Amino acid sequence: MINGVVIEHIGATNNNLVGINKTMNDTYVLYKKDTTDHLLIILCPCTFCNNSCVYCMSQGDKNSSFIMPLNVLKAAIKKIYAMPGLNKITYCWHSGEPLFAGLNYYRSALQIIERFHPSDINFEYTIQTNGTLLNDEWALFFKDYNFTVGVSLDGPAKIHNKQRKSKDGKGSFNKTIAGVETLAKHNVRGGALCVITRNTLKYPADDLFHFFRDRKIDINYLIEAKIGANRNNPNTLSIKDIPNLRVYLKRLFELWLEFSDVYIKDFNMLVTRLFDPTFLNVELNNAGCLDILNINPDGTFFFGNPELAGTIDERFGNFNYGNVIYDNLMDVRQSIPFIRQQQEIFAGIEKCKQECLYFAGCRGGNSAHKYFQFNRFDVSSHLTCELNDKIIIELFVSALEDEFLEEKKETDLFLPNNSLHRMARNGVRRR
Ligand code: SF4
Repeated sequence: MINGVVIEHIGATNNNLVGINKTMNDTYVLYKKDTTDHLLIILCPCTFCNNSCVYCMSQGDKNSSFIMPLNVLKAAIKKIYAMPGLNKITYCWHSGEPLFAGLNYYRSALQIIERFHPSDINFEYTIQTNGTLLNDEWALFFKDYNFTVGVSLDGPAKIHNKQRKSKDGKGSFNKTIAGVETLAKHNVRGGALCVITRNTLKYPADDLFHFFRDRKIDINYLIEAKIGANRNNPNTLSIKDIPNLRVYLKRLFELWLEFSDVYIKDFNMLVTRLFDPTFLNVELNNAGCLDILNINPDGTFFFGNPELAGTIDERFGNFNYGNVIYDNLMDVRQSIPFIRQQQEIFAGIEKCKQECLYFAGCRGGNSAHKYFQFNRFDVSSHLTCELNDKIIIELFVSALEDEFLEEKKETDLFLPNNSLHRMARNGVRRR
């Protein structure tokens, strides 16, 4: 046992991934719930953005000044509160540059939400911003309402400025970091969404790690793969980048092991999946992102991975199966197009469970990324799991094996009281 979980789940042998095999995958129960207890609502207040990042996949009009009318928000929340079984709602403003809507807009939006919010449903606020418009007033507002603020920040200026540019083509680093410092000054919770591209790999992983560690910023990195709208983008990563990426992630992983005060979402989540016994069951809606409700500025909506926004498909149309003004959310969840999409996503997760040695750590991958590569959801291995999930699971298992063998040498017993185990426990506890 390690931290309450049978060690075989993660493979403590002298051969990478031996423990994570098809037999072990049978341990993981895939199940579907008819109701959603924790709903993540992605509210897209506008499609406007003042930045023009080199990998942006947004299909919306980045020059449009249209803001989601407050009566659309009001209609949406009334429909949401009518959904059965909800225990918690996360309201997340995301897409375009959400601060463009202005502070008064958010004051009114929160007034509407809090006026109608049922007292028995917990809720929290988050927002994802490029940080360039942040100031003291915004930070105080976020602090007052206990927002978690994610800032799109790709690391030091030499990396960030090549990727995240203003519309005039200049790097946005100075404005973004000023925004991050303002948030820190007011103790606003949050972290960085850091996109890793070919450009990132030109610099040592140490630079990226210490840049964030020095500023006490949590890291949520995202590997930008050659899929979807970025299929031909020279900055994005493909199979041939795996050797470089492996070296990079290995170093990031070593640093994360060494400095336990740094939170890296994918690493910490991996620890939770592998070590937390409550994660032995895989809730399908959750794994397929179908408990995420995305609402566009005009009220059209879809359930699924937000990256699908704006995608047009010959089988699923634009994935928007309704409008919050006219349609009930539960009716849409029971409609034929949604159920077809849901079944295809579930089939993809099932296929992962049946076929993949890495399922224990990954749990079925990113359904939108599967779709962007194959125009289907019912597939298993895909580019982004090759570029990230499989690499970090191998790093993790091999670190465990090293410690296991080291312990065995000294005691002939597996006593998980070493640094890796401490880290694992921290990983479960933190976030
Ligand atoms: S997404 Fe990829 S790594 Fe994850 S379980 Fe499926 S095939 Fe395995």
